[in-house]
Amino acid sequence: MAAPPQLQQPMQAQFQQQILPRPDPVMQAVIEADFRPVDLTLDSTNVTALCTPHSREKCDECDVDYIQLNRLSKVLSANPTLLCPPPPNVVNQKLSQIINQTKEEGNALFRTHQWEKAIGRYTQAAGFATQRAPWEAQQFMREELSTVLSNRSAAYFENGELVAALTDAEAVIQLKKPWSKGHFRKAKALIALGLIPQAKEAVQYGLQFDPTNQEMIGVLQDIELVLRSYANQPRRDDGSSPTENTT
Ligand SMILES: [Zn+2]
Repeated sequence: MAAPPQLQQPMQAQFQQQILPRPDPVMQAVIEADFRPVDLTLDSTNVTALCTPHSREKCDECDVDYIQLNRLSKVLSANPTLLCPPPPNVVNQKLSQIINQTKEEGNALFRTHQWEKAIGRYTQAAGFATQRAPWEAQQFMREELSTVLSNRSAAYFENGELVAALTDAEAVIQLKKPWSKGHFRKAKALIALGLIPQAKEAVQYGLQFDPTNQEMIGVLQDIELVLRSYANQPRRDDGSSPTENTT
């Protein structure tokens, strides 16, 4: 890693006086009691820390885990002009591009009804979206991941994998509750699973956040139609209502 440019000595001293609190001797003792020197070797690029005996990033034998450290080290060495520590509004644009591109590939496969391939692309994109560095605004991860998972839910749905479609829809709601798409996808999956009252609940809940959403209003109307047709049908011998062919 390149060393950050040094401030001129007098300025640095002044700077430190201004912002650094006096060390607390008790806290200092706690930190030192926990301090454990570890053996560390750098790889050929001088960016990755490895355990010396086995050249591993994470080694149970040596009881070291440099994965997070190396992640930070890679980011800093790839971005020599980055302020250190990076402010939370720094966003890895390259990662955004990769996520978006992978998602678009999924969308193209979706449009041509290649559900399984589309699911694969969305899964990749979701993997990239969760790779954001910890200091990057959570908001980006939520935005990107919720869109990708919503699309994957739709692809699972089309592929007849209804439980997976439902799980992704639930995750979308967790990430972005006010967004109607999560509630919409959840309701669609529940309808297809024959869980009509639950679907109605999901839509009504979603409509609280977005009361004029036409897609959701349409689904609610469909659900009410189905529920009315149940009510008009003679009960079966066992007292249950038929649940097939709900869409
Ligand atoms: Zn080791």
